[in-house]
Formats: sequence, C-alpha cells, structure tokens
Amino acid sequence: MTGKEIREKFLKYFESKGHTRVPSSSLVPHNDPTLLFTNAGMNQFKDVFLGREKRDYTRACSCQKVVRAGGKHNDLENVGRTARHHTFFEMLGNFSFGDYFKKEAIEYTWEFLTNELNLPADKLYITVYKDDDEAFEIWNKHIGVPADRIYRMDEKDNFWAMGDTGPCGPCSEILIDQGPEIGCGRVDCDPYCDCDRHLELWNLVFMQYNRDESGKLNPLPKPSIDTGMGLERITAVVQKVPSNFDTDLIKPIIEYAAKLSNKNYGDNEKDDTSLRVIADHARATTFLISDGVLPSNEGRGYVLRRIMRRAMRHGKMLGFKEPFFYQVCEFVSDFMSDPYIELMDKKSYVSKVVKFEEERFNKTLETGLKIAEELLEKYRENKEIPGFEIFRLYDTYGFPVDLLQDIMEDNGYKLDLVGFDEEMKKQQERAKQAWAGSGESFIADIYKKLENQFKTEFIGYENTNSESSVLAIVKDDNETQEISESSEFELILDQTPFYPESGGQVGDTGKIYNENCNIEVLDCKKVGNLIIHKCKLLNGKVKKGDKVTAVIDVEKRKNTERNHTATHLLHKALQMVLGDHVRQAGSLVAPDRLRFDFTHFAPVDDEEIKKIELLVNENIIKNIEVTKTIKPIEEAIKEGAMALFGEKYDKEVRVVEVPGFSKELCGGCHVERTGDIGLFKIVSEASVAAGIRRIEAVTGLEAVKFTQEINSIAKKSALLLKSNINDVPSKITELQEQLKNTQKELSKLQDKLNASKAEDILSNVKEINGVKVLAVKMDNTEINALRNFVDMAKAKIKSGIVLVGSVNGDKVTFLCGVTKDLTSKYKAGDIVKEIAKITGGGGGGKPELAQAGGKNPEKIDEALNHIYSIL
Ligand SMILES: [Zn+2]
Ligand SMILES: [Zn+2]
Repeated sequence: MTGKEIREKFLKYFESKGHTRVPSSSLVPHNDPTLLFTNAGMNQFKDVFLGREKRDYTRACSCQKVVRAGGKHNDLENVGRTARHHTFFEMLGNFSFGDYFKKEAIEYTWEFLTNELNLPADKLYITVYKDDDEAFEIWNKHIGVPADRIYRMDEKDNFWAMGDTGPCGPCSEILIDQGPEIGCGRVDCDPYCDCDRHLELWNLVFMQYNRDESGKLNPLPKPSIDTGMGLERITAVVQKVPSNFDTDLIKPIIEYAAKLSNKNYGDNEKDDTSLRVIADHARATTFLISDGVLPSNEGRGYVLRRIMRRAMRHGKMLGFKEPFFYQVCEFVSDFMSDPYIELMDKKSYVSKVVKFEEERFNKTLETGLKIAEELLEKYRENKEIPGFEIFRLYDTYGFPVDLLQDIMEDNGYKLDLVGFDEEMKKQQERAKQAWAGSGESFIADIYKKLENQFKTEFIGYENTNSESSVLAIVKDDNETQEISESSEFELILDQTPFYPESGGQVGDTGKIYNENCNIEVLDCKKVGNLIIHKCKLLNGKVKKGDKVTAVIDVEKRKNTERNHTATHLLHKALQMVLGDHVRQAGSLVAPDRLRFDFTHFAPVDDEEIKKIELLVNENIIKNIEVTKTIKPIEEAIKEGAMALFGEKYDKEVRVVEVPGFSKELCGGCHVERTGDIGLFKIVSEASVAAGIRRIEAVTGLEAVKFTQEINSIAKKSALLLKSNINDVPSKITELQEQLKNTQKELSKLQDKLNASKAEDILSNVKEINGVKVLAVKMDNTEINALRNFVDMAKAKIKSGIVLVGSVNGDKVTFLCGVTKDLTSKYKAGDIVKEIAKITGGGGGGKPELAQAGGKNPEKIDEALNHIYSIL
C-alpha cells in the first residue's frame, strides 16, 4: 500500500462514516496570532470546538500539513538523526463537534487499523488516562482488547488541554509492538518504556470538560472528539520499513538529493544523515514558502531560515559547492503536487526564493571564513576562542558553529562552547520576544508606580482639545509637585486629545496652558494606561492638580491621518499587486511622510509601483467614508480584518475599514473620507533586509510638492540637454554613446603619443652587465596603456628589461617586462617585487610581465633607479 493510498483510504473511510472531508489549512494560522505554525489538525477547528463558530457539519476529517520547529516542539537538531523526527509532516485526523463521542471514536479507530490497514490486532496496545474507566471498558468489553494490553497513564501522557482554562479531557493512544528486535531489547519492555519498540500510532482526545478559572473541571454539555495520526509513521508501519524516511512518501526525495550529489543512499551513515536532513527540510521549506513565509531574522521567517541553512550546511558536507537545495525543493513541488496542487502554482517562486537564500548563505560562509582567520590571529596566545566571538560569527554572519569548530580544532584551538550557549540562551529569549511581539521597552520604575494610581482617557479620536486636570508631574524619573523653571519634564493628565506614539503612528505635538503657564508638548508616549506628555515649560508655572487646556497641533495631526489611512490603502494594494505573501513588517506614520516595510522577495519594479499608486489613488478619488468600529476580536478576524502577527490584541478591537477595499485592526488616527488624502505618491522603494522591502511615500500637499520637484528637475534637465522633456532619455543615451566613442579615440591617441615617446625614451636605454635596461616614469597613465608601452619597448630593444612606474593620486604602479631570451636569468616578478618594496608595496606575476603597487609616490624615482643596482 502506498502512502498516497493510505492518505486517501483514511479520508474515504471517514467520509463513509458521515464525515466531511476538509482541506488542509495553511501552515500560517490565520485565526490564531499566538501560534507560530499550524501544528495539529485541530488548529483550523479551534473556534468550532470552543463553540464560537458554527459549520454546516458536525463530523470532519482531514489530512493537515503540519510544521513543528521552533517554539514548543523544538528539536531541529534531531531531525535526520532519528527515525521519526520531522520539521514537516502530514497529520490525519477525524473530528466530532458535539456529535459522536468515545464509543464511536474508538470503534472507527479499531476498524480502520485492523480492517482497512490489516494491522495485526494482537500487536496493538492501548493506553488510557488513569481515571478514564469509561474508555477502558469500551476497549476491553466492547472491542475485546485484553485488559493486560490496556495501560493506564497519568496526566503528563494522557490528558490534553487547550490552555490553562477551556476545553480539556483524557486521551487514549493506540500503540503497535514492533517486536523485540527494535528498541531497548529489555525482556520486560512495555508501553511505559520510552524506547521505539511500542510505537504510538494514533492519539484520540476526548474533549469532555471545561476547566474554569479556579481549575475545576465542569462537564461539557456536548463533548467532542479530536484525533491525530502521523501519515509518515503509519505508512512506515504498513510498509514495514524501519524509519519514516524509508517510506515512499520521503525516500524518492532522498534518492533525488543523492543523485544530485553523486552519492548512494545507504553507503555511509554520515552522508545518509545529511541526505535525510535535506529531504525533510526541503519538504518544510517548500511548503512554508508556498504558504507565504519568507526567510528572515524574525519570527516565522527566522525558523524557516534556520531550517534552510541547516539543509545547505549538510549540502556542503556532501560536497555541493554551488546552490543545489532549490533543485530539491523543485522536486518536492512536483512530487507532492498530488494532492497539494497549490505547490505547482508556487514552484518557480519557491525555487527563486531558495536559490537567492543559498547564494546569500554562500557569501556568508566566505565572510565567515575570513573572520575565522582573524580569530586565529587574535587568539594566538591562549588558543581559545571566547563564547561571545563564536556567537558573533554565528549570529551576525550566520556562520555555523560546527564548521568553526572544525577549523579551530584543525589549528589546535579550543572553543568556549559554554560561553556560547549562554549567549544563545539570551538570544532565544530575544527571539521569543520578537515573535511574541512584546516590544516592551524599558519602563522607568516611577511609571510602574504611577500606572497603579492613575489612568489617562484618550479622547483624541473625536476631539482636538480638552479641559483636563494634571494628575502627576515627572522630572528626571522622579515625581514632583511643581515646575516653575523653564525645563523639560513629563505630564500626566486625566484626559487628553494627544495621541501617544503607537502602531507606527508618531505621537502628537501641541500646547498645554492655563492662565498661569504655557507649555509646549514635544512628544507623547504610552505606558500601560497612562499617556505621557513630553513637555517643555515656556513660561509661568504648573503644579499637580492644576486645571489646564490641552490642544494638539491640528494641521500636523491631519497630515498624519492622511498618511495613516494611506498606509492601510498601500498595504492592501501591495497584497493585490504583489501577492498574498505581503505582510507588514514595520511602519512609520509621520506628518510629512509614511514608511512601510513588508515581506517580499524581489524588488518592486516600475510597472508594479505604477499599479500600486493607481490602486491607492483610485480609492482616494472614490472618496469612501472610513469607518471605525469596536468589536470582539474573533468577529473582526472572521470578517477578514488584517491583523499583525505577533501583536497582542485585546478581546475588543478597533477595526478601521475603507469599505470595499481595506480592513485592518488599528488603534490609530484616520481621515473621515479617503478623499481627504488628496494624492498619494511613492517616493522610493528599496531593500532593508533579506526578504523585506521598504516603500516611502507622501500624501496631500507633500505629494503635490514632490511631483512639482520632479517636474522641475525634468525641465532643468531638458533645458541643459537642449531638448524637450520627452526626449531627455534618448538624448542622454546619445550623449553616453558619444562619450564612449570619444574615450576610445582618446585612448588611441594616448597609445600613439606613447609610441612616439617610446622613440624618445629609447635613447634612455642603459646597458648593465651586457643587458639593455630601460626604466621610465609615465604619470597618470592607465594600466592598459602602460602594458602597451612595455610591449612596444620590448619589441624595439629586442633583448632587455623594461620597467615603467606611474603615479596616480597617492598610488604607485610598476610594470616590468623581460624579453623571453632573458627570463631564465631575470624574472619580471622578482624584479618588480624588489622595486615596489621601496615605495612600501608589493606584487608579482609571470617571468615575462609582472605588476606591482606601492604607496609612497615621492619614492618613485629612487625605486626606478634601484633597478640598475639589482641587476
Ligand atoms: Zn523498551
Ligand atoms: Zn493602522
């Protein structure tokens, strides 16, 4: 039975039992910002289990793409070394949403394994949760599994929970005894043993409780079923092969990689491990990129990059010098396009992304090797490389530690790997924070204290000014009662129209005043529930408890609003023009411009830029009303509102919508109608990191000014070229052509000039020990002309040595030629090296012609004369 047949048999079997076949969801979970990758079949049904979502079926089955790497299931280094660790695999599952429960779930499982797959019933073992007598009875009485083959397990192994609170329940697992020749070999080995002999095949989760805040388990009115069985694993068992890698689901990929590298799978364990790593990682890479993830230094992209680089490194171990991994990924796209048709669409895209990353990585290795050499030099004394250096190489350049270890050990150096591990741990903490999105910056203790006492209400969506009370004044991180001298300080009010910097939008500026004081607000930030005004006292004095008027700089705010709404339009337009993989990676919304970073692999070309600008401006012209509504997050996500991965959202979120075009979760300030934006113009497009592009744009009057500026540059250029604006490009091409021809002419003339000079110069030939020697200076002459001169002079003197020196700025160049009849005695390379030494340089070359450089132009004459004394 092939793996493909097993997958299909499973889905057909459950369809025959009234289940709806549901396609695999994306590896990027769209409805769960807390999850890195889809890691179980039930992910896409989470809301159905929680009762938040209704479907028109109550039974479902699926074969789900799953990635387990990074985060909780982090065992990347094991993949390839064991029989069953994978970064990517397929998970078969059947689900009941308040429909059938334990009895049917167990019946189906047993019937499928023993009847459909014909597994030997007497080799199957069962585990149940220790208190789950109901499941025990069903297995024992109803199915007929002998009691001595049913094992009771504790919470750790056989109790499942969605989170600290919420649905949970006991599990039951079906294991197969693979026989005593596999695993620990102990006579008393049983399902409690950790070895590979009793292999877990299928996990059934009986969701029957709801755990409340106090930890109490309350029975669910309609209990549910969630099951999962790894396709590769069950296929290995059915096909009776020792590891998942030997199944027909993965073996062909290994064999393809083996063929590429001119190796034979099975010849030696080291190569075999590398081939398994490459096959597994090619599957993960192909599927992740197809689902919109791009290699980067953060979050999902970081995990993908680690997977890719590990595969590439194993490629190096197999002897690949040039990019190869992209070919393996192309093979995966073809090989797995049944049933995953989406892979065909994305095949060339995936291939391009992978090849680009491979080329980048090869460059990394080059740089890394250079630095490794510097380290050898730097730590010559005690021959140990400190942890922070190893980490720097690894982190900044992505240079693999084991490669560094090989190099250092070959040279008799040691590595401080303990120190390295410490640096790694710190990094992992940072990485965790990066993908959990907690960009918490340092908060002064004073604000932690004030946060517990006060709260600022933001009233700036509807108002530009407010009558407020001063709750607290902070100066140099200390609370103070009063400010009476002109200085900078921070002010907290009970309510304010000032928008604090967040979500990329800059903080408002403006004024705070009353009859006793005038204060300028320079910036505004948020700490917890507090809005902190960064202030400067212009005159008078302000004290705690004062009543003040707070007014924002309205014009600046209006400009910021234009740019913020334009950012949303841009985001959507980018997705429409470039593809769904475009995700916001960073954003700045200021009064004078906007900056938007997003995931995309290639530069955005001119045609695409035009399309994007048109789309945004079309929506501006339509003058659509921008709506802002507060609603539960689940509802917003279900309606398709764009959320930022890793961002922490409250239960209630604000949705900013340009109906018919864009919908985003956003707390920022926006225009009333899109027409208020006026005009949108992209100013620049560039790369900021691998796979991350940046667009800068302007709106409103800034956009008008920008087009005016461009127009006047074009006009000036036309004037200078004495043409009209439309003809500027062709005129420039024409001029470039002319320039090239002139340069050619010039170089011909220079050759002629040198030839006639050579005639002159020949009178300078001296004879030393019977050898004709010519040493001359020719300043500001480029190397080709020097070479021509040497050839010419050699031809003229027929037998002898020619040396030319040329000063170009602060650089000296020497060229030495020796006629063939003399090369057994005099080598041009040796001579030129000696000469260049005097000017503090060096060089070399062939016996007949050699080149050298130097740094001291003032010594050129001395150097040239030196030739007479060395012959
Ligand atoms: Zn064992
Ligand atoms: Zn926004």
